[in-house]
Amino acid sequence: MKIVMLGAPGAGKGTQAKQIAKKFDIPHISTGDIFRANIKNNTELGKKAKEFMDQGMLVPDSLTLELIMDRFAQPDCENGYVLDGFPRTIPQAEALTKALAEKGENIDFAINVEVPDESIVRRMSGRRACLSCGATYHIKYNAPVKEGICDTCGSELVLREDDKPETVLKRLSVYHDQTQPLIDYYNREGVLREVDGTKDMNDVFQDILAILC
Ligand code: AMP
Repeated sequence: MKIVMLGAPGAGKGTQAKQIAKKFDIPHISTGDIFRANIKNNTELGKKAKEFMDQGMLVPDSLTLELIMDRFAQPDCENGYVLDGFPRTIPQAEALTKALAEKGENIDFAINVEVPDESIVRRMSGRRACLSCGATYHIKYNAPVKEGICDTCGSELVLREDDKPETVLKRLSVYHDQTQPLIDYYNREGVLREVDGTKDMNDVFQDILAILC
């Protein structure tokens, strides 16, 4: 099963994608996580990506596509995957459709997690991330057991540079300009499904399961 998660930054698609991956035993592929791992390891790709990410801008398509096509070639992608944060532009979606079509494959579902902008800004200022293992929390809605410490690996949690309020507003405007058109794109492909992302995250997951099962 090949799934694309759509929705504004902070809509909760990462949280849902992780649960889907676990349930269907397919990899969760987050381009944001891959970029952050590269930044942490100080790779050339990481250095280039950081300049854009810290400003709330998208990393150029050429860099992103190189990275994701490499990832798709890994053996764990054979039975599908859930994509979180990719594609984020029409050229990225077209490149994905083309790469899949060459193998006679296609995206099965594009799930749009709908959340209005006002809720996004409120949510993201409370978000905390573990830069060591990629886990994300929310100080109110999904708090770690011990304040400021990752439940999974014990590292310190931080407010990511790109979750700061001024960067969030920039990311939302980039989302509306460049990523929202993907909703129409996948609607035309006949694979778009919508869920209400303002609900409790367990209810959102149940709604997604009703679509996928
Ligand atoms: P995320 O963790 O998905 O919110 O991504 C964090 C940041 O990584 C984004 O604001 C972009 O700067 C960059 N990024 C992640 N995925 C992509 C993508 N598919 N295309 C371009 N930039 C991306």
